[in-house]
Amino acid sequence: MTYIITEACIGVKDRACVDVCPVDCIYEGDDQLYIHPDECIDCGACEPECPVSAIFPEEEVPANLTAFISKNKEAFGGANPPGRPQR
Ligand code: SF4
Repeated sequence: MTYIITEACIGVKDRACVDVCPVDCIYEGDDQLYIHPDECIDCGACEPECPVSAIFPEEEVPANLTAFISKNKEAFGGANPPGRPQR
């Protein structure tokens, strides 16, 4: 199980989640932030920090946002994977 960052992050990228993640598994893509599915330890610290409520545990992603589960995972296998968050 992992946590998933969904649509509300697009264009916002507040990065408050980055500051609380104990394993630094939140990365930045062009459009949004992404959680690395293999590095996330499911601690839940990031979820309440997001000002736009974009973060959900994988099994609690709302039905209209489930495409973001595969989007998060596939982002790390693409040609331009998310990198360290920029400040
Ligand atoms: Fe990081 Fe914990 Fe959020 Fe996973 S659930 S991204 S480990 S803060």
